[in-house]
Amino acid sequence: MSGTFDYLVIGGGSGGIASARRAAQYGARVAVVEAARLGGTCVNVGCVPKKVMWNAAGVAETLHHAADYGFELGELRFDWQRLVAARNAYVERLNGIYARMLDESGVTLLRGHARFAGPDAVTVGDVTYRARHILIAAGGRPSIPDLPGAELGIDSDGFFALTVQPRRVAVIGAGYIAVELAGVLRALGSDVTLAIRGQTVLRGFDALVQEAVTGHLEAAGVALERGFVPAALEHRDDGTAVLAGDGRAVGGFDCVIWAVGRRPCSDGLALDAAGVATDPDGYIPVDAFQDTNVPGIHAVGDITGRVPLTPVAIAAGRRLADRLFGGQAGRRLDYDDIPSVVFAHPPVGSVGLTEAQARDRHGEAVRVYSTRFTDMYYALGNRKPQTVAKLVCVGPDERVVGIHVVGRGADEMTQGFAVAVKMGARKRDLDDTVAIHPTASEELVLMR
Ligand code: FAD
Ligand code: NDP
Repeated sequence: MSGTFDYLVIGGGSGGIASARRAAQYGARVAVVEAARLGGTCVNVGCVPKKVMWNAAGVAETLHHAADYGFELGELRFDWQRLVAARNAYVERLNGIYARMLDESGVTLLRGHARFAGPDAVTVGDVTYRARHILIAAGGRPSIPDLPGAELGIDSDGFFALTVQPRRVAVIGAGYIAVELAGVLRALGSDVTLAIRGQTVLRGFDALVQEAVTGHLEAAGVALERGFVPAALEHRDDGTAVLAGDGRAVGGFDCVIWAVGRRPCSDGLALDAAGVATDPDGYIPVDAFQDTNVPGIHAVGDITGRVPLTPVAIAAGRRLADRLFGGQAGRRLDYDDIPSVVFAHPPVGSVGLTEAQARDRHGEAVRVYSTRFTDMYYALGNRKPQTVAKLVCVGPDERVVGIHVVGRGADEMTQGFAVAVKMGARKRDLDDTVAIHPTASEELVLMR
């Protein structure tokens, strides 16, 4: 097959599929090129299988609390292989659903690896296709540092390929993925060491979040190695050891997971053939309208290096299609106030500015409200993890510019509060909202 399209999308992941389908709704002739499984990172090795594991960890935690609520449980057995098989079957169903959705939208799916052959031409296999507009939505992949023995560790893709539960695990990193994988493994019964370069995890988050999540990890029994800059991995008789630059070593692991960030999948695209510029890390810079430096070539999602989250890739992709094919000239994604959740134990919900960012921008005009309490769920037991929350407000009318919550239910409560922040809510709007009792969310409208 060869051909000419209005819109050729490289990458059948979150951003690519969303943009392609929206463009097709407007009547554009659209093709998506995908080299691997449909759905991209999120569906295959990201959000979806991760959330399944987080849910499984949640079941384990609930079983721990069952006795507090009067349940007597017999001997419990957890079967990692059974969970992984069920998870993989679910992901495969989603792969099929994505294929059907593309088909029903009239989008042509081209299977293979895409490379540019010119500013309006892309080659897949030995066929070259031309298009008026080309979208690069090729995403990213885990990065593993170039250190001696680094190959003895796996990355997040490797985590999802594990068919046997690792018993003694080292997770290296302090971001979303490190925190989420360490938490899941610990809740499911593995011994976990988390090696972080700083003193807390999630260093880009509000200080309250950093402190709370680091504390919760330790309380859950995760061994934290602070100030640990990884220098090498080594194979020893008792398992793999992780060595730090300062001479420290932690060892005896049957699994080491690198979770130290991701890099863009821009190297295999032959971008030079089209003249598309990248930054020194390989990300493709785009303007506010997702346009690259080459007219007619656009980029969305992780490959742009801007807020690498699934809903961001989807929203940017859809708005781009609205603009290019839907006659909506000024349509674009506003990257401010994007909420996100870290699926820790308990989870983190965050939207807007941290207190430190707000003080940098607004100085003395910042006013902060915070609270700390025990969720009623834990009232009957001995372990009482604290829920913490912070409102960051600015100016005489106390506009709420940031909300940060760590606690049970934070994952679900943050979406609604993000609407309020996006709409420019003031502290008194929260005060004027009647609480829902008894919930954890109500504390956010009751702060003084
Ligand atoms: P991708 O979804 O990665 O899609 C890119 C696609 O392009 C891939 O399918 C790839 O095979 C294909 N491709 C690449 N190069 C070529 C080529 N040359 N030719 C053809 N095809 C090509 N985000 C959230 O919002 N919530 C979460 O809970 C969450 N959890 C995550 C957990 C993990 C472990 C990871 C790794 C990520 C997580 N993310 C989460 C981030 C989210 O997965 C990404 O932000 C999102 O998938 C990015 O979408 P994308 O369209 O930019 O790229
Ligand atoms: P992150 O950027 O979140 O974290 C990577 C962390 O690794 C950094 O915070 C850094 O921590 C640490 N690090 C970097 N280099 C090294 C090194 N050489 N040695 C030791 N530590 C190092 O990346 P992730 O890969 O965790 O996640 C990528 C993105 O995917 C996230 O930013 C997020 O947008 C998305 N994602 C979203 C999720 C969600 O929405 N729930 C879940 C998972 C991913 P420090 O500087 O403190 O040392």
